[in-house]
Amino acid sequence: MEENTIAISALQHYAFCPRQFSLIHVEQVWHENYFTADGRLLHERVDSGEIEQRGNMRYERSVSVVSHQYKIQGKMDLLEIDSSHKPQRFFPVEYKRGKPKIEDWDKIQLCAQALCIEEMRSTEVTEGAIWYWEVRRREAVNIDQALRNSTIHIIAEAHRLLEEGKTPLPIADQSRCKGCSLVDICQPKAFRKDCSRKHLENLFFENKAVD
Ligand code: SF4
Repeated sequence: MEENTIAISALQHYAFCPRQFSLIHVEQVWHENYFTADGRLLHERVDSGEIEQRGNMRYERSVSVVSHQYKIQGKMDLLEIDSSHKPQRFFPVEYKRGKPKIEDWDKIQLCAQALCIEEMRSTEVTEGAIWYWEVRRREAVNIDQALRNSTIHIIAEAHRLLEEGKTPLPIADQSRCKGCSLVDICQPKAFRKDCSRKHLENLFFENKAVD
């Protein structure tokens, strides 16, 4: 990893829960559960690094990508390059173990890869896809302006959190905690109840007023 860059896979952690991002990437804790282990094994299977040429289509696997503009770096599962078009069309594909989600977490990771490809190959990436293992289906993703804006915002916020080095409180949406591999370390219920930070802030500001 280059200095001050964020792993593209970490953006998904931030989009899911900023506290989870901070626990993993600031405090460096990790706890593997069935879902994370299964996802890791899936990526080991697809990360063969083989290049395949079929007619005008070239399939590059496990491609390293970087954006110096956004300070992000990572590895793409698959990059399809269609030479039947001039200029060539680049099409990123990401593999996921689960099924399509309502939220944009997976799409943000794909869009970040697209931003890297655009910078590295001086091109424009308008589409990509996510292949979901559980439902054996490939979902097309439009790399539109709304998705670009969300992705760029998440990148900026993730950099800000890394620089601050502070772990935020648990997110309000408790349903996400059920499937979170870090729930035992995070202790969301205890931290949601814990008002000690608020108490200290009140104490500090009260004392300031007396000064
Ligand atoms: S348990 Fe909940 S609040 Fe804690 S890191 Fe996971 S999702 Fe975030």
